[in-house]
Amino acid sequence: MECDLTIRDLVPSDNYLLHHRVDCCSYHLDRKELSKILIESMIHHNGVGLSANQIGIWERAFVILADEEITVCFNPKIIKAYAKKISFEEGCLTYPDQFYEVIRPASIVAKWEDEDGKIHKEKLTGFKARVFQHEYDHLEGVDFLERSTGYADIHPEKT
Ligand SMILES: [Zn+2]
Repeated sequence: MECDLTIRDLVPSDNYLLHHRVDCCSYHLDRKELSKILIESMIHHNGVGLSANQIGIWERAFVILADEEITVCFNPKIIKAYAKKISFEEGCLTYPDQFYEVIRPASIVAKWEDEDGKIHKEKLTGFKARVFQHEYDHLEGVDFLERSTGYADIHPEKT
């Protein structure tokens, strides 16, 4: 039996790959192959986003699933963060069953390359902006626990 190399396991949350900044993509990186691995692995693990270092690949790339669209971003950058911030409950494939409220800018201007090296620049808002920032943090070696304001499932009683 052949093993499926397209679907990768998640590395444990204490793995050093998740706690160091990932530099720009290697020159000889097979971007089409990595795209496939990221997309298939994200779908397999039921995520809405997955960064390469979460599955043990040391490349600056992630995939996001937002607005019914899958986007793979290589060398992503946030070039502008708008002042308005909102709180939103986030989860993470690296931390199954943990959900936290995280405050982030509601909108950003993001820049990235696609698998053909073409540069994209877009203003992102809503869910897509949220997922982009969460995955971007992974590549910066930051996880959402460091951003969280506390357990999301603890709410003060309404009076
Ligand atoms: Zn995550």
